[in-house]
Amino acid sequence: MNPEIARRLQLCATLPSLPAIALQVIELANSPATHMGQLCDVLARDPALTAKLLKVANSAFYQSRRKPSNVREAVGLMGVRAAIMIALSFSLASSFRGQSGAALDMTLFWRRALLCAMAARALGARRGMSNLDDLFAAALLQDVGILAFASMMPDEYAPLHAAAASNDDLLRAEREAFGCGHDEAGHWLLSRWQLPPYLAQACLASHGQQPELASDMHACIALSGPVADLVLHSGNAVVATRAASAAQRLGLDAAAVSDALGRLTAAVPAIEELFDMRLLRPSEAAAMLAHAQELLASHQIHEMREMEARSQRDALTGAHNRRYFEEAVRREFELSSRHGWPLTIALVDLDHFKQINDTYGHQAGDQMLISMVRAVMSELRQEDLFARYGGEEFALVLPGTPLAAAGKLLLRLKKVIGGLMVHHEQHLITVTASFGMAAHMDGDQRFDSHETFIRAADEALYAAKHAGRDRVAQREHDGSGFRFYQ
Ligand code: GH3
Ligand code: MG
Ligand code: MG
Repeated sequence: MNPEIARRLQLCATLPSLPAIALQVIELANSPATHMGQLCDVLARDPALTAKLLKVANSAFYQSRRKPSNVREAVGLMGVRAAIMIALSFSLASSFRGQSGAALDMTLFWRRALLCAMAARALGARRGMSNLDDLFAAALLQDVGILAFASMMPDEYAPLHAAAASNDDLLRAEREAFGCGHDEAGHWLLSRWQLPPYLAQACLASHGQQPELASDMHACIALSGPVADLVLHSGNAVVATRAASAAQRLGLDAAAVSDALGRLTAAVPAIEELFDMRLLRPSEAAAMLAHAQELLASHQIHEMREMEARSQRDALTGAHNRRYFEEAVRREFELSSRHGWPLTIALVDLDHFKQINDTYGHQAGDQMLISMVRAVMSELRQEDLFARYGGEEFALVLPGTPLAAAGKLLLRLKKVIGGLMVHHEQHLITVTASFGMAAHMDGDQRFDSHETFIRAADEALYAAKHAGRDRVAQREHDGSGFRFYQ
C-alpha cells in the first residue's frame, strides 16, 4: 500500500464510520466460538435487522418446509455463521448507503455491489461450495475501496471514476494516478474496521491478479464483477467477452457464467425486497438473460473448438498426436486407394537420443524435440501432417506425393534436423535422424490396408537404423531388400 495514500486515508474525516450494531456484528464475526445466544442478543437491539434476517430465512435462499417465525428459529435454520454474515452484509450496506457520495453515483455503486454479491453466491452454488453467505458478504464489500477514494478525494476521483470503461480499467487508472488501487484501499478499510481477515483479503483477490490468493472463493469473487457487468450491460459483446475470458483465466467456463446468470436473475426479486433496492426491471430481466446467454454461448463454442484443437496435439511440441496421425492415415489411405492418388508416409526417429538426455538432461532433450518440430513444420505444405508417434519418434503423412518427391523432401528434412543447434547452458547440442518411408498407389507400390502400410514404413526405419542411422530407407520394389538415401 502506498504510504502517502495510507496516511491520507488515516487522516480522512469523511470516511464512513460504522454504527454500533455493525461493530457488534463484526466482533461476533471475528470470534470462531460465537453461539446463537450472543447473536440473538445483538440482533434484539436492532428490530430492522431482525426483521430482515427473518425475511431471508423465509425466502427462497433457505428452502425449508419449516417457516421460522422468530429470530432464534431463523438463526437455527441458517446456522450461526451464515446469519452473522447476512447481518454483516445488511448492517454495512445500510450504513454505507446513508453516505452522500458527491464523486459517485451511489445508487449505481450499490446496485453493482449487490449484483456482484449475488453473482458470487450463484457461482459458488454452481461449484457446490458451502459458505455461500461468506461469499455474498465478501463480494458485496470487494469494491469498498472505491468509496474510500471517493470520500477522501472527491474532486480528483470523480473524473477518473467517470472515465473508466470497466472495474479493471479503473484499477489501472488509480494505480497510475495514486500508486495504489481500490483493491488495496478496500483491504485497508476493512482491516481497519477489523472485519475478519478473509473478507479484507477478498478485496485484494477481486481482480484475480494475485495467484497466491487463488482459491475457489477468490475465483468466484474475481468473476463476480464481470458477471454483474453482464447484467448491467447485457447487450454488450465486449462485456461478454471479458466475462468469458475472466472465467477461463479462473478455471471456469462460459457455461458456468451462463448458469450463474440464470440463478442470479431468479434471485433478483427476493434480494430487491430485502435490500430495498431496484436491481433489474422485471420486464427487462428475461431479455437480458436471453441476450447475455446467447453471447456466452458463442464463447462456449469457441472454447470447445480450442479444446478440440488441443486434444489433437501433443502438449510438449504442438505436433499432432498419434491418434490424429492414425485417423489421418486411415482417411488418406482410403482416398488414395479409391482415386489412385499417390500417398507417402514416413516414420522418423532421432538417433541416439537417449545419449542427449543422459549427457545434458531431460530438459535439453525436450528443448531439442521442440526445436526439431518447429524446424520440420516450417518445411512442410499445408496439407502435409507431422505427428508425434511416441517419445522421440515422429510420423509424416504426405498426401498426393509420390515416392521420388517424398524422398527429396525427407533428405531435405534430414539436413534441416542435422543442422539444428540447441543451446543448453554452455553447450551446443546437435542430433541426426533416421527415416523409413513407404508409398501407396505409386507405380507398383500398393498395400492392402493402412496397417500394413504403416508396418512397411516401420520396417524401413528399422533398416535405416541398422544400416548406420542418419539416412532414409525404403523397401525395394521387388521386396528383395532396402534402398538407402543419404
Ligand atoms: P536410436 O538411435 O536407436 O533411436 O537410439 P535412441 O537412444 O534414440 O533410442 P531409444 O529408443 O533407446 O531411446 C529413446 C529415448 O528418447 C529414451 C527416452 O528417454 C527419450 N525420450 C522419449 N520421449 C522423450 C521426451 O519427451 N523428452 C525427452 N527429453 N526424452 C524423451
Ligand atoms: Mg531414437
Ligand atoms: Mg526410439
